[in-house]
Amino acid sequence: MSDDNPASPLPALPRLDSIGRRGLCLVLAAPSGAGKSAITRALLEADPTLMLSISVTTRAPRPYEIEGVHYHFRSQDLFDAMVAGGDMLEWAGLLGRSYGSPRGPVEQALAAGRDVVFDIDWQGYHQVRKSLPGDVVGLFIMPPSLAELEQRLRHRASDSEAEIARRMATAVSEISHVREFDYVLVNHTLNKAVAETQAVLTAARLAMARQTGLEHFTHALHDPQSR
Ligand code: 5GP
Repeated sequence: MSDDNPASPLPALPRLDSIGRRGLCLVLAAPSGAGKSAITRALLEADPTLMLSISVTTRAPRPYEIEGVHYHFRSQDLFDAMVAGGDMLEWAGLLGRSYGSPRGPVEQALAAGRDVVFDIDWQGYHQVRKSLPGDVVGLFIMPPSLAELEQRLRHRASDSEAEIARRMATAVSEISHVREFDYVLVNHTLNKAVAETQAVLTAARLAMARQTGLEHFTHALHDPQSR
């Protein structure tokens, strides 16, 4: 049967998502209270293939926080041992405590072609970018205003006045690093911020440089059976 024959079955259309690619790291940074956790939660709910990098911290859990879900809560000694053992992909001292991202789960996810979301500060972003060149996309989430940020911190109700004052001072310093990121959005409403974050993730996933399976896919276009 000739290919010109209108009755001949068309070869199955190649599916774009079948191009093999490396996993990527989406770093979400923002001052504490800018809505980063809510955005992260919505992203993960909408896309079960995404993995969250669960940080280790030396700060005490908030009442609603669960070990192994929000953080791995550890003593300073255990934290220091992880750093010394090379088990942290990045870490930073913040607000008088230590925060870090365990290396193992991230490396496993990337090798399996899975994407990892990080909720870390600007210092961690720089370290991850250095450790995994080409694999990291940075998105900075701005609060609509500092007044709104303070209101959101107060809404959380679990932090003391001193903690809120410390977080407000840290917020100003965090915002001064916004230009070091690839993308920026202002979190006016959660739905819009989530949609914008998903758009950034989609664009990052489709970046040409990430399509390690493109050559194979292009060859297979000529012979879909070979895929
Ligand atoms: P919180 O105490 O409100 O949970 O977090 C305080 C700040 O620490 C936030 O800006 C958060 O993004 C940052 N943070 C959380 N985990 C990590 C981490 O593993 N590494 C770094 N560098 N920052 C983190």
